[in-house]
Amino acid sequence: MGTKILIVEDEEKFARFVEMELNYEGYEVTKVFDGRSGLELAETGEFDLILLDIMLPGLSGMEVLRRLRRTTSTPVIMLTARDSVVDKVSGLDSGADDYITKPFAIEELLARIRNVLRKSNVQNNSKVLTVGDLRLDTGRHQVTFRGNQIDLTKREFDLLQFLLENKGLVLTREALLENVWGYDFEGETNAVDVYIRFLRCKIDEVFDVKIISTVRGVGYVIRDEQ
Ligand code: CA
Repeated sequence: MGTKILIVEDEEKFARFVEMELNYEGYEVTKVFDGRSGLELAETGEFDLILLDIMLPGLSGMEVLRRLRRTTSTPVIMLTARDSVVDKVSGLDSGADDYITKPFAIEELLARIRNVLRKSNVQNNSKVLTVGDLRLDTGRHQVTFRGNQIDLTKREFDLLQFLLENKGLVLTREALLENVWGYDFEGETNAVDVYIRFLRCKIDEVFDVKIISTVRGVGYVIRDEQ
């Protein structure tokens, strides 16, 4: 499914030019020429990103943004004709993700669009998994215990994440290998034991807790209540 961009811009010729360029880059574009229609469409939540002019008839871009932020967090890039610090500051205060001053090079707009979309994708895909006082943040790629940061290698992190995603389920060594290592590691299931030991060294022993339980003859589990 394509990335949908809404352009709210009353200078129709300029809006058409931007639309053409964005189409060329593969974005699906909808454009409207006044603030009120812009707000209505933006509120549907159908769009991945909104390009919002500040100087608009009816409802100003700033007002559209202010109202929009009550209901959605769709990324917004403000377009302003004036290189005004006030616009920039109040735009960002009102919840704009970025702004760009007209006239601008289309390449700069495209770069900002990519940047804002990338950040919003990371936010959408990030989650925080917890057990007791342990927190794993997939977006920040960070593990903490009562606020203390724990440095894990990528494999240790992935293993811990998989165990947390399946909290309460006993996972066999084979299941862990298949999902964390990603290939059939036949006969090498002791790699799992080695990495479980690494995790226990860095977490259980340091903080005197028991995060990962061994289920003899089966595998490992992380449970909420120990
Ligand atoms: Ca305008």
